[in-house]
Amino acid sequence: MKQHVELVIKNARELLTCKEDSPDLIGLIKNGWVAVGGGKIVAVGTEETVKPFISDSAQVIDATGRVVAPGFVDSHTHLVFGGTRVGEYFAKIENLPDEEIKRRGIKIGILTTLEPTREHDLETLYSESASRVADMIVSGTTTVESKSGYGLDRETELKQLKVNKLLEERLPISVASTFLGAHGWPHDMEKNKYIDFLLNEMIPLVGDGKLAEFCDAWCDEGHFTAKECGIILEAGLKAGMRPKLHEGGYSYIGGAEVAADLKAASADHLNYDPRSSLRKLALARTVGCPLPGIDFAVGHVLPFDPKPMIEEGLELAIATNCCPGCWCTSMPFIIVLACRNHGMSSERAIRAATIAGAKALAREDRVGSIEVGKNADIQIWNLERHEDIAYHYMTNPVSLVIKDGRVVARNSMLDI
Ligand SMILES: [Zn+2]
Repeated sequence: MKQHVELVIKNARELLTCKEDSPDLIGLIKNGWVAVGGGKIVAVGTEETVKPFISDSAQVIDATGRVVAPGFVDSHTHLVFGGTRVGEYFAKIENLPDEEIKRRGIKIGILTTLEPTREHDLETLYSESASRVADMIVSGTTTVESKSGYGLDRETELKQLKVNKLLEERLPISVASTFLGAHGWPHDMEKNKYIDFLLNEMIPLVGDGKLAEFCDAWCDEGHFTAKECGIILEAGLKAGMRPKLHEGGYSYIGGAEVAADLKAASADHLNYDPRSSLRKLALARTVGCPLPGIDFAVGHVLPFDPKPMIEEGLELAIATNCCPGCWCTSMPFIIVLACRNHGMSSERAIRAATIAGAKALAREDRVGSIEVGKNADIQIWNLERHEDIAYHYMTNPVSLVIKDGRVVARNSMLDI
């Protein structure tokens, strides 16, 4: 029986399927065709393979001379926040001494985002976050992860998770929600008391309400210890949330061991992780998610090095880490940084932004590649070859975005 096909993309100069087992990392098909029906991918290949599926009523998009790729999966963001930290950004750029920062009244660090995020009502927080998500969609992102962690109190953490739900309901994007109560602890509370509050109140509440898929924590000097993160993430697991972990960003204190022991979906940052820890993550099939955007934004003294990660067999995802300290919504820009600043090949970076991102969100069965049966989340780049995405920078290369089989953005404008 002929399957109903609503949409066909024909004659892409390069079709990047990004199938997980592709020897070239991106599953490149020259002169590629894709057929879509019922929001899913029905056929993929050359004209010969796909043409028999096409009906007269199907909409045809001609991708001659262009690149077709899966929608990006941005697997690490803190996109729901209030306010700005532009003062902090320039204090770091200008390397201002502490007394000058104090004199100018510039506040530093994630706790300074607490106040505006707590003060925003739900709709204000939603609309500021939605404008960032709209920028993501027109830049090719069709699935995004979004963390709480700028409230560190019951009301605001729940408000952030509620905004995640609204974003998915109102915009053409899939949102994976992460509870990051262990992003820090408020100035007015002792760390141990705050951990008790997470374990006894917040984690059961978020779990019972099925408000988040993942539970995350920040394992670093001056933040939470490896032991504390283990306890928090285990409680999250018991409440039905799979672990993720920020670790090794500014020091190494054993976070990878915790992430590997608990089979975390991803371990993120990884600037300081020793090889032995990278190996443990790889054996546990935890995805490594280094973050080119934050290394760029803070002028990191030790930018992550993908080479030992790849040599140890770690699957690498890259993500925007969109947050007040790294105001980036563009996965194409993250690919530029991953290649130019960290020595990734374009194929490695594209894989990291698609199928590996899907693995970091345990959604590789549905998104991240162009394969029969998967969601029809597809983008077209106004580029002749895939390498150009890391080479033609500072203009949005994404000319068309398709979410669940429907065109949702054209030429940097939402079309919904
Ligand atoms: Zn983060």
